Amino acid sequence: MKTIGYAAHSADAKLVPYHFERRELRLNDVAIDIRYCGVCHSDLHTVNGDWGPQPYPVVPGHEIVGVVSAVGPEVKHYKVGDRVAVGCMVDSCQECDQCHNHEEQYCRNGMTPTYGAPDRLSGEITQGGYSKHIVVREEFVLRIPDSLDLSRSAPILCAGITTFSPLRTWNVGEGTRVGVIGLGGLGHMAVKLAAAMGAEVTVISRSTKKEAEAKASGARGLLASTDQAAMQAAANTFDLIIDTVPVKHDLNLYVPLLDVDGTLVIVGQIGPMEEPMTMPLVFGRRRVAGSLIGGIAETQEVLDFCAEHQIYPECQMIKMDEINDAFEHLAQGDFAHRIVIDMASLSVD
Ligand code: NAP
Ligand code: ZN
Repeated sequence: MKTIGYAAHSADAKLVPYHFERRELRLNDVAIDIRYCGVCHSDLHTVNGDWGPQPYPVVPGHEIVGVVSAVGPEVKHYKVGDRVAVGCMVDSCQECDQCHNHEEQYCRNGMTPTYGAPDRLSGEITQGGYSKHIVVREEFVLRIPDSLDLSRSAPILCAGITTFSPLRTWNVGEGTRVGVIGLGGLGHMAVKLAAAMGAEVTVISRSTKKEAEAKASGARGLLASTDQAAMQAAANTFDLIIDTVPVKHDLNLYVPLLDVDGTLVIVGQIGPMEEPMTMPLVFGRRRVAGSLIGGIAETQEVLDFCAEHQIYPECQMIKMDEINDAFEHLAQGDFAHRIVIDMASLSVD
């Protein structure tokens, strides 16, 4: 199937239109007309080569929503016209303990990311959602609940699940004191989801500039990490902190904010960190942990949770050819919401 996307052809290059083919349907494949795709900071890290050399050209995009256009003969759960979604993974071994435990993101044999990785059968490089069409095996296709507006749902597929999963893992509920470092795409979803679970949420941001957006998303307040007096006053006041900062940073600033037995979960920076100080960990039995997206079943759970609670990401719609400008703002951490590409703005011809 011929399609078009926007691809980076080298590190730090601008994204440009790119014609390519999607594979012929395998027995258990679902073909999807992509309607909207969210813009994750991981897309930017990947095309910039922050995570190592990439198999260019790379078509990024892993917050994909659309409509089924065709199905392979053995597809059981989807039919033409269904509203569906694809997140950060398109395959895994399906045989190891992690896959059996519905945690395909931790597949022992390595899950297949939605873009920039070899397909398990053909070796062809996967290409993501900044495009008109995608073909994905049924097991990695999610259903958009009827009561969710497709145009506002795409960021649930990465920003949503990546923050939902640690909130669930660390049993966030009524009255849990949750801090969210960085009010961007992931951060604002963390606030909305934690607030819906009954938590008392505080945004920890570089300045007070995003205070109104923090409160609009459901936070009780905003703590500026640059305000030393406020940071000291907030020591020992959090049960869980979700850290979405996308660059190398100093955890020592944030760990003392945790109460005894509190946990700081890194979901942002993947790579080296500043040297951690052990004292605040030891004196307070505090923990630093990490978390990667979430499994397919849990991704369906967050979609259903958002439908039930009518939680929507704040989406700023752009046209496909506005992506390079959006990347520049994303690099600065300007947004307190998610950029979403309207694929109607991209034509196959
Ligand atoms: P984003 O929209 O750019 O948000 C990141 C936020 O971090 C910014 O809005 C900003 O918030 C803060 N920030 C930015 N630069 C900073 C700096 N130099 N120092 C301190 N804070 C800074 O990015 P995103 O899409 O939410 O993604 C965040 C990170 O999560 C990325 O690194 C991405 O690759 C990663 N990620 C991980 C997973 C996973 O599975 N673990 C999944 C998806 C994404 P303030 O203005 O409020 O400070
Ligand atoms: Zn992402």
